[in-house]
Amino acid sequence: MHCDIYSQLGGSGKCHHYIKGGFCKLDNQFRCIEFINRKGVDLTHSSIRDYLRCPFLFYLNNIVGVRIKSKSTRMLMGEIMAECLHTMHLGKQITQWDWLHNKYNISDDDDTELELTKLGCMVSHYWSSGMYQFDDEVLPEENWSYFWSDDNEVYKIHGRVDARLPNKHWLLECKYTTKPENYTLFTLHDQLGTYLLGFPETQKLISRIIRVPGLRLGKNETMVDYQQRLLKDISRRPAFYFNDYSYFPSEINTTELRSRITLITHQIRHLISQDNFYQNRESCFSPYKCDMYHICSTGVVSNKVYEYRQAKEE
Ligand code: SF4
Ligand code: SF4
Repeated sequence: MHCDIYSQLGGSGKCHHYIKGGFCKLDNQFRCIEFINRKGVDLTHSSIRDYLRCPFLFYLNNIVGVRIKSKSTRMLMGEIMAECLHTMHLGKQITQWDWLHNKYNISDDDDTELELTKLGCMVSHYWSSGMYQFDDEVLPEENWSYFWSDDNEVYKIHGRVDARLPNKHWLLECKYTTKPENYTLFTLHDQLGTYLLGFPETQKLISRIIRVPGLRLGKNETMVDYQQRLLKDISRRPAFYFNDYSYFPSEINTTELRSRITLITHQIRHLISQDNFYQNRESCFSPYKCDMYHICSTGVVSNKVYEYRQAKEE
C-alpha cells in the first residue's frame, strides 16, 4: 500500500501534508501510509481489538480515521461515564449536566433520557459514597507508551489508564457495562497486561466494574420518580452496582502478551504491504453492529453518517 501523492514526488522529498509523529493533514487520511511503511504501526489495546475483530475495521478506524457521527447510546454512555469518573477522580463534583448536550450532541429521545438518568444516579452515588476518593495521591487518566525492539524492528504500544496511585503503584480500570459478568481476569488480561507494560512498577491492578442499572421505567412513572427509586435501590445494594476486583502482576503473562503484539504488528505490516485489509463479515453484527456497516454495505463513505479524524500539528 502506497500513497499516490508521495509516489508523484518520486518517492523522495518531504510531503507537505505530513505532520510530525506519523500523521497526515489531508481531510480524508489520518495516518501517513508512508510513515507506517517505514516505521511500522503504533498500536493501542483498542486498535488491536479492532484488528482482531476485522482488519478492514482496523484500517478505517486507525489509518484512514473514519468516525461515525452519531454514536450508539451504549458508546455514548461509556464515554460520558469515563469523563464523569475522570472529573470526580480530580475531586470535582458534577452538579451541572447542560455541558453534556453541547459536548456530546445528545438527542432528546426517551431512551437516551432514561440512560442519562441512570448514569446520573450512578455518578451521584459514586460521589456521595466517596468512591471517587482514594487514601493516597491519585493521577486520573494518564497516557503511557511502551517500546521494545526485536530483529532491528521497533514495536510500540500506547494507551491511557483510568487512574493511577503512583505512591502505592496501583492502577485503576473502570468499566460501565450492562454485563459485569463479562469482565473477568481472563477477558481483561490483555488490557491490564498492556498497562503493566506501560507501568512495570505496578503492584496491584484494580478493575472497577460499574453496572448499568436495569431497572425499568414504570408505565405511569415520571423520570423524577424513577430517579428517586433508582437512587434508593443503588444505596440499598451498592455491591450489586459497584464492584472492585484486584489483580496482581504475577497473574498476568506480559511475556506472552508482548510476543502476541509483536506477531500482530507483523501481520498488520504484511496486510499493508499486500494492500489487503480484508473484511471479516462474520463480525459485522457480532458482538454488536459495527460502526462501519454503512460503508461496507454501500461502498460509500457518506458525509451524513461519517466524519474524518483530523490530525493536529503540535
Ligand atoms: S502525509 Fe499524507 S499525503 Fe503525504 S505521504 Fe503521507 S499519506 Fe501521503
Ligand atoms: S462492517 Fe463488517 S466488514 Fe465492515 S468493517 Fe465492520 S466488521 Fe468489517
